[in-house]
Amino acid sequence: QPGGSLATPACHLPTCLAEWIRTISKNNKPVQPGRRKDAAAMSASRKLKPGRLIAATHNQGKVKELRDLLGDAGFTAISAGELGLPEPDETADTFRGNAELKALAAAKASGEPALADDSGLACDGLSGAPGIYSARWAGPDKDFRAAMQKVEDGLKSETTSDGEVDKRASFVCVLSLAWPDGHVESFEGIIRGQLVFPPRGERGFGYDPIFVPEGETETFGEMDPSKKHAMSHRAIAFAKFKTFLAE
Ligand code: IMP
Repeated sequence: QPGGSLATPACHLPTCLAEWIRTISKNNKPVQPGRRKDAAAMSASRKLKPGRLIAATHNQGKVKELRDLLGDAGFTAISAGELGLPEPDETADTFRGNAELKALAAAKASGEPALADDSGLACDGLSGAPGIYSARWAGPDKDFRAAMQKVEDGLKSETTSDGEVDKRASFVCVLSLAWPDGHVESFEGIIRGQLVFPPRGERGFGYDPIFVPEGETETFGEMDPSKKHAMSHRAIAFAKFKTFLAE
């Protein structure tokens, strides 16, 4: 019978709690002392010392952004492009999958830890689109006016019978740090907001002119960049990354 000796007392508990107790009693095997030492040595060897860190991107805009953010943490970002590392195809179907495959490819090719990011706009009314395809919706000419129009048209076509359009959306950023042995740590930042049409503001980039973060009235395209950079999905992911570095 699943649950073993816990089955009798657990029947007085809510089902989900009983299930949880069964799971941890199955998974919580004692760690052998040798293994614990190995794990401690491994985590010490993963500690990054300030210095050079590979930014797994060939995009100059991203290199600059990663360089600024990493500079604050005592790292000098060297791009995968500068090192002539190959650029992998983004074949995963999640932000995290793509960030991890880019970071792993650069770490394995260079033999050094590498950091990559993947980000985009996910619209609730479009079942998360454009999502990982955010850059691709703008086409080879990077025409974000057209991409924002595509979002507006898509939402209009999803209008409910009572005329409601779901304008809720999120910007998502996943940062992944990979080591040459295949270990990866990922950090996710999400900011929720509302879409507005027509686009407003000339600051920022990409989909900024149609996104108003929760609690604000200006779009990211109208907002002072320092304000955006303090609250954005990228800032949230970076804050988690920096906490990891300090641990
Ligand atoms: P990727 O991470 O290079 O795959 O592309 C991310 C794409 O998502 C960008 O080209 C933008 O279109 C969009 N995106 C990500 N972050 C932002 C942002 O902060 N503002 C506006 N658009 C963004």
